Amino acid sequence: MIRKICDVLAEKRPTYSFELFPPKNEKGMSRLFNTVEKLAVLEPDYVSVTYGAGGSTSKSTLDIIKKIQEDFELTCMHHFTLVNQTLDSLADSIKAMRDAGVKNVLALRGDPPPEMGEKFRKVDGGLEFCYELMDLVREIYGGNDLSLGVAGFPEVHIDCPSAELDSKYLKIKLDHGADFVVTQIFFENESFSKYIKRNLAAGADAPLIPGVLPIVDYKRLLSFCDTCGAYICEEVHKVFGPIADDPAKTIETGTQYAIDQSTDLLARGAAGIHFYCLNKVNPTRAIWKAVKEAYPPQPRA
Ligand SMILES: Cc1cc2nc3c(=O)[nH]c(=O)nc-3n(C[C@H](O)[C@H](O)[C@H](O)COP(=O)(O)OP(=O)(O)OC[C@H]3O[C@@H](n4cnc5c(N)ncnc54)[C@H](O)[C@@H]3O)c2cc1C
Repeated sequence: MIRKICDVLAEKRPTYSFELFPPKNEKGMSRLFNTVEKLAVLEPDYVSVTYGAGGSTSKSTLDIIKKIQEDFELTCMHHFTLVNQTLDSLADSIKAMRDAGVKNVLALRGDPPPEMGEKFRKVDGGLEFCYELMDLVREIYGGNDLSLGVAGFPEVHIDCPSAELDSKYLKIKLDHGADFVVTQIFFENESFSKYIKRNLAAGADAPLIPGVLPIVDYKRLLSFCDTCGAYICEEVHKVFGPIADDPAKTIETGTQYAIDQSTDLLARGAAGIHFYCLNKVNPTRAIWKAVKEAYPPQPRA
């Protein structure tokens, strides 16, 4: 059954989910559904599918979600961004999601596409902030059949001048109807504890679901984090740098690292774990099993 994530979070914690991205070609697409078939056995609470920079994957994101919901009956979350789009084209995309039975949307401003340069720019007739997009999604969906998630940044959004402001802006997103927060990847769990505290001080109280990226390739990690603006702490460099040219050792170490990071985050109060599995079954499957065994989902009183 396709659920709203807010209902799942109201019923049980922690949730376990994974993130996919739309592949570039048909071969990648068939590999992707192969991965979904294997991961479906783990009974994820939901699967999310990203939206390419500037809306470049809008059709494939929706097509993938439709297929996962229909063929595997898995709850999906559609990432959706406002960058580089006018109000009319945003409205058309939202209607398409609504009509396709999408019940969960991760509303985002979006990363600027390469032609925009490093800094985001609002287009004429478009929107600027995520909370404006949330209003539009809610208005077009009407009624109740929608759960909205938003992005959170334990180590502060790259363009935000302070941690206090970052939490204040999160509070605005919650006031505009966000049900839960999925975070940017990070590797220092202490920053998550500080994030909980600073959000509560700003009155931003919502289920926080950290995004966890299993480290399988140190050099690719460096470029991935460079692109998404995530900070890699010294410990990660120290552990993974020296074994960068040993793939088997990196995967073994990365698996244990992700298990330790995830269980510690749940102990610190995370509402769930969202695994960035990068369209691969391994090592997410082993990490997932170990973490779920340590923290099986419990019904909420
Ligand atoms: C879990 C997760 C999934 C993601 N998935 C995708 C994806 O699929 N596709 C993609 O392109 N990108 C994705 N991103 C990246 C995301 O779009 C970028 O990080 C983007 O720069 C910020 O998006 P946002 O929704 O947090 O924007 P916003 O909340 O709008 O914030 C954008 C900037 O404006 C500032 N700000 C926010 N509110 C206000 C306000 N009220 N007044 C003044 N300033 C304000 C913030 O500090 C920030 O600097 C994802 C990020 C995360 C964490």
